[in-house]
Amino acid sequence: MLGTVLSVQANYYWVRLDEAPDHASDANTSNSQNPALLPTSWLLCTRRSRLKKMGQAVWVGDRVQVEEPDWEGQRGAIADVLPRTAALDRPPVANASHILLMFAMADPVLDPTQLSRFLVKAESTGLAVTLCLNKCDLLQREAQEQWRDRLKAWGYDPILMSVHHHLGLESLQDHLTQHSTIVSGPSGVGKSSLINLLIPNVEQRVSAVSGKLGRGRHTTRHVELFELPSGGLVADTPGFNQPLLDCLPSELGAYFPEIRHRLADQSCHFGDCLHRDEPDCVVRGEWERYSHYLTFLDDAITHQEQ
Ligand code: GDP
Ligand code: ZN
Repeated sequence: MLGTVLSVQANYYWVRLDEAPDHASDANTSNSQNPALLPTSWLLCTRRSRLKKMGQAVWVGDRVQVEEPDWEGQRGAIADVLPRTAALDRPPVANASHILLMFAMADPVLDPTQLSRFLVKAESTGLAVTLCLNKCDLLQREAQEQWRDRLKAWGYDPILMSVHHHLGLESLQDHLTQHSTIVSGPSGVGKSSLINLLIPNVEQRVSAVSGKLGRGRHTTRHVELFELPSGGLVADTPGFNQPLLDCLPSELGAYFPEIRHRLADQSCHFGDCLHRDEPDCVVRGEWERYSHYLTFLDDAITHQEQ
């Protein structure tokens, strides 16, 4: 039977089966400590030794084949991992389809270069990217609209929101339902607050899941996927503040909507133009993030030379 890995801890995997067999419910309501938090379609699985020998890792988000379910004990064994449609390795998450990039409009102050760096990193995954700016309650409407206009010129249509005041959550929900989403962004912008709001009982569920293994949330490299009540999955990942831009210098331009737009209907003189000081370049110009592009290009070139 097929399922999705929602949580990985050491060599244990919580797998949500696509369909719970009918007879499972009776066995589990009496047995499970907290049936509401750990539904009967969930099994705590180990990985078959064949997979270990092959060096086949099992990641959060993986679609897996489960064998030998023990409904009473809520246990099973992962026999196979289906091919991944996407694989992000920092943190390791399989089959994600969407990145929700979250920044705060204030507290911490919104730094355009840092935002740009996160956007480029997000674009480099090839996944759909949604930008949301939290804590809009801390800014006057006029200042909010200035940011919106500025980011429109960058090629984005940000969701302005406030987790505290429950503003902007409906448009956010629309972006989450059909996807398996990775929430990314610097620390302090409200990612945990958002997850706590979207997923009721999240803390209790985390402790129910990690109870047997005695580990808490946000230990190193621990990632967990949560099911949204309205459908869709969300990955709660530890925050990081300075993503490494390790793409090829020649690829960097593709991660700027402004550059994609410019190259859609014109081309530079040289096919391998890096848009610095080459003659007849259609990208170089007076647009806001051109200086970011040059900075990140230096980073990418340095990285390549290392
Ligand atoms: P994380 O590090 O991204 O997970 O951020 P947290 O969820 O821990 O939030 C950081 C701080 O911002 C906490 O003190 C939150 O209470 C606060 N915060 C979260 N959302 C909002 C908001 O919409 N408005 C304001 N003013 N503060 C918020
Ligand atoms: Zn060029």
